[in-house]
Amino acid sequence: MALQITDACLNCWACADVCPNDAIALADPHFLIDERKCTECLGDHAEPQCAAICPIEAAIVDELGVYLNPPGSLTGIPVARLVEFGLWKGAA
Ligand code: SF4
Ligand code: SF4
Repeated sequence: MALQITDACLNCWACADVCPNDAIALADPHFLIDERKCTECLGDHAEPQCAAICPIEAAIVDELGVYLNPPGSLTGIPVARLVEFGLWKGAA
C-alpha cells in the first residue's frame, strides 16, 4: 500500500517535508515515493499529507493509478477545457 509520484511532478519539494515516514526523496527526473516506507499516512493523519499539500494536479496516484488530485480538482477548470487548450492529454 503506497502512493506514487507521476511525471506531472514539478519537483517543488512541498511533499518531502510533510511525510511522516520520510518516504519521499528527490530523484531524476522527479521526486519519488519509497513504497517500502509509504503507509498512505494511515495512523498518522486523516489523509495522505503529500497529496494534501501537492499543488500539481495528477502528480500523485494510488496503487490503482487513481489520481489523488485529479485534473481540474485544484484549479476548478473543467477537464474539457484543459483538453481543449492542450493542458491535459489524458491519463499518465
Ligand atoms: S501518503 Fe503519507 S506516508 Fe505515503 S508518501 Fe505520502 S506523506 Fe508519505
Ligand atoms: S508536492 Fe507534488 S509537485 Fe511538489 S514535489 Fe511533491 S509530488 Fe512533486
